[in-house]
Amino acid sequence: MQLILLGPPGAGKGTQASFLEQEHGLAKLSTGDMLRAEVKSGSELGQELQEVMSSGKLVDDSLMISLIRERIAKPDCERGFILDGFPRTLAQAEALTTMLEEVDRRLQHVIELKVDDEALVERISGRYSCAKCGEGYHDSFKLPKQDGVCDKCGSTEFSRRADDNAETVASRLDAYHAQTEPLVAYYRDLGILASVDGMAEMDEVQRQINGIIL
Ligand code: ADP
Ligand code: ADP
Ligand code: ZN
Repeated sequence: MQLILLGPPGAGKGTQASFLEQEHGLAKLSTGDMLRAEVKSGSELGQELQEVMSSGKLVDDSLMISLIRERIAKPDCERGFILDGFPRTLAQAEALTTMLEEVDRRLQHVIELKVDDEALVERISGRYSCAKCGEGYHDSFKLPKQDGVCDKCGSTEFSRRADDNAETVASRLDAYHAQTEPLVAYYRDLGILASVDGMAEMDEVQRQINGIIL
């Protein structure tokens, strides 16, 4: 099964992709995570990416498309995958359609998470994650069961994303509305769009998604 989680920054794509990964054994492909790994490596490309990402703008389509093309050819994607953060432009969406046709696969569902802009700012400003395993948390909405200890791996180190600040968030939201939102109509026309209420609690959103894919 091939799925896309579509939604603005902070909508809960990563959170729901992790649920789907655990429950259904699908590979979670987060382009944001891939790009942050490249930045962390300190490579020349990583330095260029960091500049673009900290401005809240989108990274070049051709680079993103080749990144995903290579990634979906890996063995862990054979059973299917969830795309979190890709595609983000019409050019990326069209390239994905073509690349899946080439390998005789197709998208079953594109799940749009609908969340108001004000709630997004609140979600993003409280977001942090485990520095070791990447598990996501939130200052108000998802605290570790034991204070300061990751539920998943027991680590006591956490980190916050450099681009999760008020100024960058505003341009990321602008980029979403201008460049990514048109994909809703693109996938609706293909007949594979489903929308869920992303304002609901995490468990409820998960339940709604399971209702669509099962
Ligand atoms: P969020 O989880 O808040 O939606 P991501 O982690 O997906 O954010 O992305 C962080 C940044 O990485 C984006 O603001 C953008 O600069 C870049 N990025 C991630 N995915 C893509 C993509 N498919 N196309 C272009 N840029 C991307
Ligand atoms: P995205 O990948 O779309 O940028 P995340 O999954 O990282 O979004 O979620 C953003 C923040 O909001 C995280 O701190 C996460 O714990 C929290 N969050 C996710 N889903 C919900 C929800 N349904 N209700 C409240 N907070 C949520
Ligand atoms: Zn952890």
